[in-house]
Amino acid sequence: MENSEKPVVSNFIRTIIDRDLESGKHKKIVTRFPPEPNGYLHIGHAKSICLNFGLARDYGGVCHLRFDDTNPIKEDLEYVQSIMEDVRWLGFDWGDNLFYASDYFEQLYEFAEMLIQKGLAFVCDLCQEEIREYRGTLTVPGKNSPWRERSIEENLDLFRRMRAGEFEEGEKSLRAKIDMASPNLNMRDPVIYRIKKAEHHRTGEKWVIYPMYDYTHSLSDAIECITHSLCTLEFEDHRPLYEWCLHNLPVPSYPQQIEFARLNLSHTVMSKRMLLDLVKNNVVQGWDDPRMPTIAGMRRRGFPPAAIRDFADRIGVAKASSLVDFELLQFCVREDLNQNAKRVMAVLDPILLTIENYPENSFEEFEAINNPEDPDAGTRMIPFGKQLYIEREDFAEEPPKGWFRLSPGAEVRLKHAYYVTCKEVIKDAQGKITEIICTHDPQSRGGSTPDKRRVKGTIHWVSAAHAADAEVRLYEQLFTLADMSEMEEGKAPEDYMNPESLKVLTHCKIEPSLASAEKGERFQFLRQGYFCADLDHSPEKPVFNRIVTLKDGWARQQRKQ
Ligand code: ATP
Ligand code: MG
Repeated sequence: MENSEKPVVSNFIRTIIDRDLESGKHKKIVTRFPPEPNGYLHIGHAKSICLNFGLARDYGGVCHLRFDDTNPIKEDLEYVQSIMEDVRWLGFDWGDNLFYASDYFEQLYEFAEMLIQKGLAFVCDLCQEEIREYRGTLTVPGKNSPWRERSIEENLDLFRRMRAGEFEEGEKSLRAKIDMASPNLNMRDPVIYRIKKAEHHRTGEKWVIYPMYDYTHSLSDAIECITHSLCTLEFEDHRPLYEWCLHNLPVPSYPQQIEFARLNLSHTVMSKRMLLDLVKNNVVQGWDDPRMPTIAGMRRRGFPPAAIRDFADRIGVAKASSLVDFELLQFCVREDLNQNAKRVMAVLDPILLTIENYPENSFEEFEAINNPEDPDAGTRMIPFGKQLYIEREDFAEEPPKGWFRLSPGAEVRLKHAYYVTCKEVIKDAQGKITEIICTHDPQSRGGSTPDKRRVKGTIHWVSAAHAADAEVRLYEQLFTLADMSEMEEGKAPEDYMNPESLKVLTHCKIEPSLASAEKGERFQFLRQGYFCADLDHSPEKPVFNRIVTLKDGWARQQRKQ
């Protein structure tokens, strides 16, 4: 991928990998991205994807995509498919290395029997609440389960009967026999199998017992010979259990778990449960609502995948949690689009402008450069005529000081076309301006005059006779609170919903060439921002999303600091 031209910034994970390659501990590195298919991926997952696939790419290793599908109740094929689509869209390829934890169910079951045989696991009859009570707290040691001393034979028999479906959910579980007095709660005889009589999206009704996350995760990593298992900080306390599983079973490899800080982004939430609630409660219009921090949402909004990869590189990986400003992500998007988006003209809030000295029913075309930043982007022709639309806010009847745009008697440059001077304003009965009458200077064709007269303001326009109508959707932050971890108790994210997060403009006028844009095609609307043809877009009914404005809030913030 093109990313490799950029110098690689080292971090503590790369330092560990460098050491492991130097010492000969590993010859080839193998990482994995292990999503649970219980929701759509978000920008936090993108960080993990870029990290895992990026390391594999940079070190000539491989990265596996593994679905951690051990909870049949919350998981769904729809999520499996969306995750694959999102990882590919981000620009990564797992090749043949697609795995499912559910493929290891038989092997994991055999491992569990081995633990029983070694006296390291027992079938427990306590129910969930009792297990919790017996576990103790950080300050109070746990109590041994009354079922902890069952014989190996009895445990084996009961575990096999659990598998055979003889018991109901919650009646029994298989627990690792570790240490109820451990200062680490995760080591107090954690449950490793529970009964769940639910159909699994891949294994169907084959299983009625399902392995728990920590047990499954470490063993799946080992089965796949993962060298470096990267996860977020909240798993630091789970590492002893991860290692306990590896130590006590005949696994083919011994992966190293390394934790890094998860990404938190301002003005949004990153919890799949909360995102699911937003979708279910119709607070947003779906997982791919362009306001969502999901990869599907960002794709629909028009964020380029390269900008997301750039963002992941810039935030880097660290051990300390922090809140990253959404402005940084938008900055990365602008950097990309400034290079790669065609510049076109669209009027979001149109007002009619008539050039009284321009011939009736006569039209001409101007050649416009598509992107001054990209010589290969070429040029296109823009039609021009007697009547145009300009932006309502580019006209002021009583201009404030320093106003360079249009006002009575003032002259401005129409981008790519002529100088025009405002002669008259026409209003309706309510006093609202409906039309601006101008004259043009025919000698100013193309943007300058023989007398080199200075005109300070340049405004954009579209030809009224040629323009297409469009709907334009403007997006703002989803939530009004920057750090959503500071949400008040008892409140839900939707209580912080930004009422301005979506504004739909239905009477926009766009250059005719834009009607035939491809869905997903990105443009700069001159002076307005970056926009992308939405999934709902068609030549008959053009619809554009605003990706970002032109204002660089990130640079502004950096200057302030
Ligand atoms: P769940 O609560 O369902 O476990 P999750 O966000 O942890 O949600 P997973 O599907 O388990 O979702 O995550 C897959 C991978 O993505 C994990 O390795 C996880 O550490 C990583 N990941 C998830 N959220 C973030 C985040 N905000 N920043 C960085 N990595 C993340
Ligand atoms: Mg998780």
